Amino acid sequence: MVAPVVEPPRRRTPWTWGAAILLLGALVAGLVGGAVLLWRYVDVDSLIEAASDEAPPPVEELVAEVRLPELPATAEWTAHIYMSQRSAAFFPDPNYYPALIDRWESILAGLGADVGLVSGAPSIEALPAAELLVIPAGVCLDQGERDAIRRRVDDGGPLLVTWALGARDENCDWVGFEYLRDLVGAETAGTLEGEPPTYIVVPHGSVVAAGLPPGSRLELRTEPWITLRAGASNAFWSDWALNPLSAPEGGVGSGAITHTTLSGARIAWFGYRLDVAAAPRDQRLLERLAQNAALWAAGHVLAEVDPWPAGHRAAMAITQDVEHSFSNSRRLAEGLSELGVPLTFFVVTQLAREHPELAGVLAAAGELGSHSVDHRQIAGRAWGAQLASINRARADLAEWSGELPLGFRPPRELFDSLTLEAWQRSGGLYLAASNGARSAVPGIFQLRSGRVVVLPRVVDDDYTIIISRGQTRPDSLRAAFVASLEKMRGLGGLNLVTLHSQLIDSRREIEAVASAVEAARDAGDVWLARTGEIAEWWLARSDLELTVRERDDRSAILYVRNNGASAVESVWLHVYLPEEPATFAAPELGDTVLESHYGAGGLRVRLPTVRPGESLEILLPRRRA
Ligand SMILES: [Zn+2]
Repeated sequence: MVAPVVEPPRRRTPWTWGAAILLLGALVAGLVGGAVLLWRYVDVDSLIEAASDEAPPPVEELVAEVRLPELPATAEWTAHIYMSQRSAAFFPDPNYYPALIDRWESILAGLGADVGLVSGAPSIEALPAAELLVIPAGVCLDQGERDAIRRRVDDGGPLLVTWALGARDENCDWVGFEYLRDLVGAETAGTLEGEPPTYIVVPHGSVVAAGLPPGSRLELRTEPWITLRAGASNAFWSDWALNPLSAPEGGVGSGAITHTTLSGARIAWFGYRLDVAAAPRDQRLLERLAQNAALWAAGHVLAEVDPWPAGHRAAMAITQDVEHSFSNSRRLAEGLSELGVPLTFFVVTQLAREHPELAGVLAAAGELGSHSVDHRQIAGRAWGAQLASINRARADLAEWSGELPLGFRPPRELFDSLTLEAWQRSGGLYLAASNGARSAVPGIFQLRSGRVVVLPRVVDDDYTIIISRGQTRPDSLRAAFVASLEKMRGLGGLNLVTLHSQLIDSRREIEAVASAVEAARDAGDVWLARTGEIAEWWLARSDLELTVRERDDRSAILYVRNNGASAVESVWLHVYLPEEPATFAAPELGDTVLESHYGAGGLRVRLPTVRPGESLEILLPRRRA
């Protein structure tokens, strides 16, 4: 049986982590400065007649819950934890290191491993070659230990290491990162410098991030963690807005690596220790990274549902807030709909009433959403006021265009629990609003009355580019839009292009937007859609439950169940293989061989339509050696 090698549709260049890092690498220098601008006061109240003089009410930030998929059920396996007595003595608190070892022991046991503890070079030499060796925070190593670890890797033995492995000698004196760099195949290494907060970001397509929302940003306690530059990065140190921090001597600063050596050894490395997250939410995600890395290094298959339909790497929506200079919206509507670009207009309804002639123009060009009645901040207000305001805007829009909106961009991109509840109860589906840059993809809020999707903007809008940064030339605007696109392709996220009617008012500015669309089309792996379609897809995708079970012969069975009420089409799975693809035969669904494509990021499998309540059982058979 031979796997049909079919490219995911419309993809022109094969996606590899190397490509992702190149895209992100270009952003290191350019956008770190700009990141602080993102979410400075981004809306345009000063340009619209203020409806009131009162200060906007304070808003408490609401964070969407992350639902992590079940961990794979594995066949029997064994892992060993290396206890370094010298490293234990390095930490001032004598309880620190033993507690760290305990934590790893319970994580590995939770993954179904039979866990043993070893100590001293001869014990490393004595381990069976195929079993996983975990070395947490082994900072002080003698020459015998170094040689034993090295030999084990040369023999193809899998390894999971953390932090500054071997950066100090047997007396715990500093010797540098050369041993670590050499072992994990990094080009440069150093300590992470900078002020709190400390963030690490996981792009889609890296095995440690399997099951996490693409572009998830985790906050760590601030310490001089380790940063490397390596071709095989899995997670990178970042600023608040998901832009990578620089590695020593330039490039993307990696905080996690998975790397297979020429000898076939799988090596996973984290640039921090383990229990070092800033908050429980972050700790839970940090732990999942550790679990994923251990499973992969130990030779197990991991899988997740690709974020976007039809094998696309990223999604992109062109949206405009139609507010001051309302009639400028005609330019964007006519200019881009000629090119067949899906658009969404978020309309200030009080202003819309003065332009009845534009309702048909905008509706013909795209989706219409609400941007409130009068552009006053809604979040932070009382329930009655929010509900009344939201309903009023919906009624205005229905009267103006004949349609009720699915989407709402709340003024200042701010919302609270009452905003969500009011929008859902009045019949809305999604908000286009801030997620505090916690991930590059939508979040879902489960309310008593139903679900609301929040589509985040984690790229600069035209206001930031033109007003805050003063980049007024269409060339700069184009360059900024393309950089945002590349950022989201790197992360596997949503590029929510956000424009304002009062800022996009010339033919050349429309052309700058059009050329960003062209760049997305040329890339071939970007899903261009209206925001409503993106929200609907995200809900449907979240109804898919994927579980992985390993058979005794180490073949994997992938179960996909649709718990939702509608059929889900164009779903692809992303399967992370621990070994070269020849080890596995093509994925089978009953008698059918599924279309699949192998690339540097793993095996991607195209699913047939999954009907409501349906379960698919896909076998990924392991070939006999
Ligand atoms: Zn606005």
